[in-house]
Amino acid sequence: MARKCIFCEKRAGSGEHMFPDWLNKVFDQIEWQMPEGETPMWSRGAQDFRTDEVSEQVWGASEIASLILKKLCHECNTGWMADMEAVSAPLLTPMILGRPSTLNQTEQVTVGTWATKTVMVCEASMSEERNFTPEDRKIVMNENRPPGHLRVFAASLEGLITPARFGVVRMEVQNKGVRLGDLHLYTLQINMLILQVIRQDPPASVGVSMADPNFGSDGEIRVFPPIPDNPGFFWPPKKSFDLEGLPRYVTRLDNPPALPGPWGPHRDSPRNGGSPR
Ligand SMILES: [Zn+2]
Repeated sequence: MARKCIFCEKRAGSGEHMFPDWLNKVFDQIEWQMPEGETPMWSRGAQDFRTDEVSEQVWGASEIASLILKKLCHECNTGWMADMEAVSAPLLTPMILGRPSTLNQTEQVTVGTWATKTVMVCEASMSEERNFTPEDRKIVMNENRPPGHLRVFAASLEGLITPARFGVVRMEVQNKGVRLGDLHLYTLQINMLILQVIRQDPPASVGVSMADPNFGSDGEIRVFPPIPDNPGFFWPPKKSFDLEGLPRYVTRLDNPPALPGPWGPHRDSPRNGGSPR
């Protein structure tokens, strides 16, 4: 059976680049400070609290933009995705390099859309189950914005830095022992920039999710839904993570996201409250 493009569902190409060229050019500008004897590595990982499954795949960093995926079509990759890369690269590059940045509301939506598109592609490169729905992908493709029920945050990484990592953490959310649904935490780290996309399944209604006033914790700033000009989007946030602290942010064990709708802030720990199925 021919593989289908995860976005338009037409026949997929024999191999499209997962990451854009511009990312390689940004990586060329970074002086890697690695522990002696170690080479910069790029990795993809997944952690599922419901099944206790953990997987991790690692490559040399110079290959970040040469990873090939057989689940995209040439038309998508050279069409709307290329257009998106062109507007996103100038916004993302300074943050990846660690330069303080402001984004207006339109630019926040652009960065949020890029993060969503990228985690959709990374996720599809690892597995076919429990992924974003075709409807969510079509919103990104056709409307050039994240689906309204998603949350996107930006954080920063300092100190000894790995070049790039994609990870997804999947957990079951319960309230007083009652299962509410699944939470998927996608974290993309590219040098100093951390982008996190939060998806709840089933999703909250759009009316509820857009009304959420939460602006995130000290260690993050919300990208989507966008923050109005006052207080405005300013990166980096007050607090940066280091490599040791990053896993706590990735799993959100210390800072459960303020989720819209009936989920509220989920308080049951996934390790204690989650029941594997
Ligand atoms: Zn396509």
